[in-house]
Amino acid sequence: MSARPGRDPSTDCTDPTSRRVVATAFALISSRYVLARHQIGAAILDREGGLHLGLHVDAMVGRAAVCAEAVALGVARMATSAPLVLVAAVRHPKPDERTPARLVPPCGLCRELLLDHAPDLAAVIGGPLGPRTAALAELLPHKYVGTKWAPTGP
Ligand SMILES: [Zn+2]
Repeated sequence: MSARPGRDPSTDCTDPTSRRVVATAFALISSRYVLARHQIGAAILDREGGLHLGLHVDAMVGRAAVCAEAVALGVARMATSAPLVLVAAVRHPKPDERTPARLVPPCGLCRELLLDHAPDLAAVIGGPLGPRTAALAELLPHKYVGTKWAPTGP
């Protein structure tokens, strides 16, 4: 059984910006993967070119786990208030899996969270024809809009 990440999914990206963000997420999870602790790495690009990393933090109680994208969002907001433009998350295979690392789209909670803080954010997602960029609003067309702040952001 191997804990190697396999092929870098950024090599399938056709545009350099997506390739950079995916390669950063892949490098992170390749170096920090721990079975049942850290399985996904994320990177978020801000409009000024800064990259902000996040590592998935698993927990004994599943719902206490924190997604890599949420960690990356907090890291980004510690560093800058620049608009966030692109996110990518890469899942490391478990040792008994034969598939390589792969892009994973943000989960439903992360779609809500990211859109609350970055309404123009796009995500690099996998697909049958290879990676593509999708507006997060496209992935969550009926986002919840509460009354805490204006729908366009805090
Ligand atoms: Zn998530």
